[in-house]
Amino acid sequence: MSTCTVCQKDSKKHSQKLWELHKQVTICEFCFKSSSTHTEELWDMHRRTVETAKSKTRHKKLWTMQVGFGPKCPALLDNNFSYNSKLNMAEWLTPVYMSCTDCGLFLGSIETDHADMLGGMCLKCFMKATDLTGWGYGE
Ligand SMILES: [Zn+2]
Ligand SMILES: [Zn+2]
Ligand SMILES: [Zn+2]
Repeated sequence: MSTCTVCQKDSKKHSQKLWELHKQVTICEFCFKSSSTHTEELWDMHRRTVETAKSKTRHKKLWTMQVGFGPKCPALLDNNFSYNSKLNMAEWLTPVYMSCTDCGLFLGSIETDHADMLGGMCLKCFMKATDLTGWGYGE
């Protein structure tokens, strides 16, 4: 028996995967936070987002970019970019975003941080969805 240094719970209270997330702390390629701040589901969602983006281009190296004054986000080079050409690399970087599973809009940082709780939806769609199921107070 051993106690987890991340969540202070017994190792038995973890699934094998969660244990790995807590045991070998790695940095998430998507949100740049450590694996220990993710739930298992959130880790999966973030990982899948990056993998899906990677599958669309032959350039597998992740870069970071900043849009305006926003937080930095991961970015991948466009499939049509070639290192041999004299192209300006910065113009060929496409940010890796999560999009709302419902309306398809890009998710903000709060929404991606809580994507597991929001079911991958934006706050607007999540609110709409929970209204329909009658998510009340004080129960
Ligand atoms: Zn733990
Ligand atoms: Zn993440
Ligand atoms: Zn939405």
